[in-house]
This record gives sequence, C-alpha cells and structure tokens, in this order.
Amino acid sequence: MTDLVKLLCELIALPSVNPAFVEPGSLVAGERLVAEFLVRTAANAGLDVQMSRVLPDRDNVIIRLTPRGRVRRRIVLAPHMDTVGASGSQLKPVLKGGRIHGRGACDTKGSVAAMLGALLDVAAGKNRPSQTEIIFTGLIDEENNQSGSRALAKAKFKADLAIVGEPTLCEVVSAHKGDLWLKLTTKGVAAHGATPSLGRNAILEMARVVQLLETEYAASLKTRTHPLLGIPTINVGSIKGGRQPNIVPDFCEISADRRTLPGETQATVRRELAALFKKHGLAVTVADTKGAPCLPMETNGKLPLVQLFLKAAQRKQPLGVHYFCDASIFSNAGTPSIVFGPGDIAQAHTADEWIAVSELERARVVLVKFLRSLP
Ligand SMILES: [Zn+2]
Repeated sequence: MTDLVKLLCELIALPSVNPAFVEPGSLVAGERLVAEFLVRTAANAGLDVQMSRVLPDRDNVIIRLTPRGRVRRRIVLAPHMDTVGASGSQLKPVLKGGRIHGRGACDTKGSVAAMLGALLDVAAGKNRPSQTEIIFTGLIDEENNQSGSRALAKAKFKADLAIVGEPTLCEVVSAHKGDLWLKLTTKGVAAHGATPSLGRNAILEMARVVQLLETEYAASLKTRTHPLLGIPTINVGSIKGGRQPNIVPDFCEISADRRTLPGETQATVRRELAALFKKHGLAVTVADTKGAPCLPMETNGKLPLVQLFLKAAQRKQPLGVHYFCDASIFSNAGTPSIVFGPGDIAQAHTADEWIAVSELERARVVLVKFLRSLP
C-alpha cells in the first residue's frame, strides 16, 4: 500500500457527510473529523496550518507552503471535504483489484489525498518553488451551498490560479455550466368540481407552461452553443397543485433546473421566460430557489499558468463539464480557476463509489510536476 492509498483510506474512514443530507445530530455529519485529520497531518510535516470557521462547528482548513523568497504568485489547491450521504459499508475503505471503494473515494477525498500528497512531496523536496506560495484549502459544504469557497470569496481571498479538486479523470477543465433552480407558479380560481366553468384551472395553465418549456423553449436553447459546454438545458423536475378531485385547483407549482452557459445570468433567463409566457398569454410567476448565485465558470485556456498546467498533465486542450462546483466561486471572485482531479464523475454519488489507484497516483504526479515547474 502506498502512502497515498493509505492517506485516502484514512480519509474515507472519517465520515464527513454534508449536514444538509442527514438528520440533525447525526454522527456522520460535518467535516470536523476530516478537518482535524488534515490539520494534524500537515502540522506533523511542519506546514503552516489554520482552521477558519465558516459555520457552527464547520471550518475550512488552510495549509500554506510559503516560499523562502518574496511571494510573486499564489496557487490554490482546493478540494472539498464534505460528501453526499453515507452509511455502513460506505464508510469502510476497501482496496481491491487496483481500486479503492468507499464514500468520497472520487468525490473528492481522492482529490484531497492527491493534492495534500503533492503539497507534502513538494514541501519535503529540494527544488521547491522559491517565489510561489502554495495554499491547500480543504473546503466545507461544496455539495450543498458551497459555503466554504463562498466564505473565502467574501474574505477577498485571491490567487493567480485555483485548481479545484473534482473527479475529471485527470483532464484539465476550464469551463463549467451555471445552475439556476426556479419555482414557477400559476394561480387559478377555485370553484366546485361539479361546475368547473365557474373557476379557472391552475393545473391546466401549468400543463401549458410545462409543454412550452419542454418544446419551444428547449428548442430555442439548442440554438445556443458553447465550444466546450455544448447547449444550455432546462429540466422540469417536480410538480404540485390542487387539493382534491372536487375542487377546481387555484394553484400549481413546478420546479425547474436551468443549466446556463457563460454569458447567461439569472436576469437574462428571467427576461426570456417572461417574454415567452407573455407571447403565449400565460400568467406565471418565477422565483429563484437557490440560496446563492451559481454562475457559469470559464477560464481562458491561453493563460500562462493554465498552459503550464496542461503541459504537466500532458493535455493539449482544456475541457468543459456539465456539473457545477467550487471553481465557479473562485473564478467569479477574481481567481482564474481550473478543475482537476483523479477519478471519474460517473462514480460520484453512487452506492459503490470507487477510484482507481492509478488515477490517484497520476493526479499527484501531475500536481507535483506542475508545482515544481513554478519559480
Ligand atoms: Zn464534488
């Protein structure tokens, strides 16, 4: 077992389920155990460590490798410590057939291990950068509200490049979509079910709205495309309306997930929906239900640090992904960001989450190569 495999197994054995996904007071909830483990490990290696309170009992971990010379650039390694729900056998790491199984193996304790492993290697080696500060941030709450990265952004934390850990199969990702959650409501007039003509049916109105979103609107989205991200999308995810068979329903409500491209904002989406509903004579109110903005992320692949990273990863071009992550928060707060990490997003959030040991080791090699190439 290599030191990196051991490190990942230790991380998986420490539950850090996002509290949003479990009952209050659950023993597996929160990032504290992982945070304390990272602090101990980094402090033992002589690194400068700090915990930074974000929410009650939930801290970001900030580990710095400060250069001997003057700091001319800052690189951030930013994986998240929280996972989706986990129980029983998912909390027991299993190494089998070149894979490590367990909750968080790829999303993103694999990235935590590879990034911390890389930092420790660079710190212990002779040719460490003399003018580059490397900052590892173990973030809380990526899976729910991204409170960890948002707290750093609010504190005006900035760097020259953030490498956000997510399972990209060691590809370099320079763009991802944004995400809007919308609640759409139609109102009707209640009446006795025996005399529907005396009322106005809010469900019928919403049925027209759903039809419109899934046909005309979806077709209009297909005419927009981004070279790395493809087309924006809409998904109607839930519906609720009316009370009982013999009452004409006076309300109906749907939730929809709208994935956005760079350039699309909450305001532009709201405007185009309002115009569409007006054109079809539908009265719909639209509300945003995400607690905080989830904007698209796009970083110029020609930036020298991105080019250097591509070289270390032996990749010609950066890619785009569909999922939202902390990179958006860093990027929109002024730090150019890429997403990079071992493992496949296809295994994230699944019942049998795993990561290939070869991926884990490869990610560390790429990161070490990149960090050592910096002055
Ligand atoms: Zn993740």
